[in-house]
Amino acid sequence: MNFSITELPEIVENLPEDKKAFFQRIYRFYSEVGRLKLPETMRKWAIERFGECEKQRIVRVTNKLTLESTLFNELRARRPIDARVSGDIEDMIEESKGGTFCNPLKKTPEDAFGRIEGKHCITASNIAKYDYLHAVIVFRDHNPFVYDEEKIADYLDVAQRWFKKANEYDKDAKYPFFMWNCLWRAGASIIHGHAQALISREPYGRQEFYNRIRKSYIMEYNSEYFDDIYLIHENLGLGFRYNNVRLMAYLTPLKEKEVVMLSNSLSELPSAIALVLRCYHRLGVRSFNLAIFMPAIHDIDTFVTRIVDRGDPLSRTTDIGGMELYAGTAVVASDPFRLAEELKNEI
Ligand SMILES: [Zn+2]
Repeated sequence: MNFSITELPEIVENLPEDKKAFFQRIYRFYSEVGRLKLPETMRKWAIERFGECEKQRIVRVTNKLTLESTLFNELRARRPIDARVSGDIEDMIEESKGGTFCNPLKKTPEDAFGRIEGKHCITASNIAKYDYLHAVIVFRDHNPFVYDEEKIADYLDVAQRWFKKANEYDKDAKYPFFMWNCLWRAGASIIHGHAQALISREPYGRQEFYNRIRKSYIMEYNSEYFDDIYLIHENLGLGFRYNNVRLMAYLTPLKEKEVVMLSNSLSELPSAIALVLRCYHRLGVRSFNLAIFMPAIHDIDTFVTRIVDRGDPLSRTTDIGGMELYAGTAVVASDPFRLAEELKNEI
């Protein structure tokens, strides 16, 4: 069944009563039509460019607990997922070979406690740190488009070993964070493939925010917040399991094609991350952010991984504007229902 996000009102209406109530416990939405009048002088151009645009259905989905909120416009959502990729990017990657990360032992600093080395990567100490314990996981591959499960498993294993070592070095540093920014659109300053590991004495803001949401949710409903978020996605056809990881084409994406994954450990994640990155690559995504929110060192808890498409690396317009930065409501073109289909097609 091929649904669209603009059909969300009908999809929710058709859920069995208990599932509908469950959805409404956490989400609210509205669906409205935006109208405009085209002067004859621009009608042909506008319709060629945007299709029938005098009426535009807008769906806004809001998570009532977290206030995560996303606007979908059917004009944008209706379009096929754009798989156009410019050949220039591969040339730019090729031309950037031979830089710092191609020679990490000679051209990057090491942490006070040394380096962690894997088969497919090695750590460096970040030369301009975000926080006081901050490593770069430098991939052996120069090309940043990596979607081999074995390589991803190695990056995560090295991250895990680095977190342990950093925590031994500073016992107060017990809140780890893993991220992978691919290309400049995602904030990466170096093209060569790399991820980053941080560990700190306090959880990062968003992690602490979700911890609070989870605490109050369990008090009120005696249920785990993320488990319920997943079930709601599964009920709508937006969530599925893959090798023990629960994947969701997220209902309130932060930006294009956001996938949120739940797992019980880092070691469960490589095949699911590889699946999403393979799917992304096929859909023409060349720049993405990946982040893993994880429990404090020695704690056992859910791992939340988020991956988001950052748009065309050759575009001069950034994907983040005032709506995302200040309104706190993202404007998104990709349809989560289509994304869910594409992810399932990738299996
Ligand atoms: Zn390189």
